[in-house]
Formats: sequence, C-alpha cells, structure tokens
Amino acid sequence: MEWTRRRILLGLGALPLSGISGCDSPSREASNKVVSWPWRIPDATVALRKARWKALLVAREKLRPLHERPGPAQPGEWRHRYRESGQTFEEYVENNPTRPTAQRRTLVIQPIGPFDPARERILTQTIDYMARFFNLPTRREPPLSLDVIPTHARRVHRTWGDKQLHSQWILNRLLQPRLPADAAALIAFTASDLYPEDGWNYVFGEADLKARVGVWSVYRHGDPSQSKEAELLALRRALKVAVHETGHNFSLEHCTAYRCVQAGVNNLDEEDRSPLWLCPECVTKIVWMSENNIETRYEKLLAFCRDAGLDTEARFFSRSLEVLRS
Ligand SMILES: [Zn+2]
Ligand SMILES: [Zn+2]
Repeated sequence: MEWTRRRILLGLGALPLSGISGCDSPSREASNKVVSWPWRIPDATVALRKARWKALLVAREKLRPLHERPGPAQPGEWRHRYRESGQTFEEYVENNPTRPTAQRRTLVIQPIGPFDPARERILTQTIDYMARFFNLPTRREPPLSLDVIPTHARRVHRTWGDKQLHSQWILNRLLQPRLPADAAALIAFTASDLYPEDGWNYVFGEADLKARVGVWSVYRHGDPSQSKEAELLALRRALKVAVHETGHNFSLEHCTAYRCVQAGVNNLDEEDRSPLWLCPECVTKIVWMSENNIETRYEKLLAFCRDAGLDTEARFFSRSLEVLRS
C-alpha cells in the first residue's frame, strides 16, 4: 500500500472560508492481512526481534480493556467530516514507516518568534514530554525571528483579525532546507496563529508524513498565565498537538479504533475531549518504531504527569503499568 497523503493537518479550524476541500480522506483499502513478522531483520538479531515482537503483541492485548472505543461521530467532529480507515499496528509495520536511524535520532525543536514566560515553560515541558514519549534525544535550536517569514507567507484573518503565518511555507521553504543531518524530525513551535491555505480559517499544526518536518502553534491554547488551571489546560493542549504531529512524522495515520491522541480532531472542543495517551494499536507502533521498552516508557510518562500535576493522565499511566505487569 502506498501512503495516499503526504500532509496531515490537525485542527482545521472548523469550516474552510470558501468551501475548498482541505484534508483528503485516505482512499487506500483497509488491509485484512495480518503481518505476523516484520521482514528485513538481520539474521543475528532475529531471536531478539522475535521476542520483542511477541512481547509487544502480548502488551497490546493486556492494554485493550483500559481503552474506550469512539462513539458515533458527531457533527463537527473530525470523523464526521472525514472518512478514514485507521491503521493497525500490523498495517503500520507493513507500510515501511519513517523511523529514526543510527544517524538520525534527534528530535530537533525550532522555535519561531517570541514566547512569553508562561508559554516558554510549556514549551520546555513539551520538549521533555516528547523525549519520553518517543524515546529520542531532543535538541532545541536558537529561536528564529518572525522576520524570516516573508509578507507573502503571512496574512491577517479577514474576519477575526488574527495575524497568521502560512504553515505550508514554513514546512516547505523554512524547515525542509534546514533539516539537520542528525534529525529524526525537525519540528517548529510558534506562538503565532497558523493557516495552511487561503481557504482555511486556521490550523493547530501540520506535519509531513515523509519529509520529517512539522509545525504547530500554541496560539489557540488559551493564556497559561491566567491561572494554574489555565496553565494545565494549555499544557495538555500543547502536549497533545506535539505528540500527535510528531507521530505523523513517523508515519502514524489517524487512529479510528479507540479514543486516542493520534485520532483526528477538528476543533478545540474535540481536542479537549481527546486523551493524552495512545491506544493499544498506536502505542505498539511507537514502542516498535523507537525500539523502546513499553514499561519504561509508561514509567517516564507517569513521572512527568505526576510532576506536572496532570492527575488524570498519571492515574491512567499508573493503571497501564499495573496491567502490563500483571
Ligand atoms: Zn493529524
Ligand atoms: Zn490509536
């Protein structure tokens, strides 16, 4: 099967301004083929890979009872607007996804424009969470000034007046030429609003399935300096967008099987209803892709959530560890 999309948008800002279709629904046929074994495995490591593969499948089954299936799609939600077939762990492996390599193992973070102190704290926490989530080192590059964005890649929203940056210009013209040799992915963060095309209101973020670049914005995540609750809400939103978009960089498609952070979301309400965690299908993709230990990964995420005051997520990760160890 071929990927039918290169770009995946997150949070399309409700309806387009002028009725264009912005996010293609994948047309590939769902595969019923069960891949019992990943090929291209060096002979010397077959036994180890075999044991890890089996352990992942066992972990997936243990985790399933903790996760909820999505209900019928409601008007305004992503699944109501876009028909997507989802992607099992086996389908993911079969599609030869983009993975870190020995030479390309760093998640490189590129801030664009200024961040106030509260959003700066969230950016720092988000980078920490990404390292734990993807089992990869991170490196933060010096910030780029907004002056690097030319006037033809900016606009002021004609109804709302928001100053916006063109996300596809950032991906194509700013990030791709700067992709470092050691980067598993190059991800830009900005506090400015984004738009993907002239016909759209805004976008939370955009990632490329093959080019290993992504960009996302905290502009619509609320003002974290207002209260502790506002800071936690903005942090949750930033973490969700960060891991969702970076998941796309590693070829994860939108999840339709469970309530999952890798599911498509169409607006902020839907994003707030979505969980911060991955479902059993998607977590096995990430653990396999990053050659991580699934329990170690949950332990690191649990420690982060306890420190950050993300109590719901801490309880969920703790429960996940319990069932994995049972
Ligand atoms: Zn997405
Ligand atoms: Zn999922």
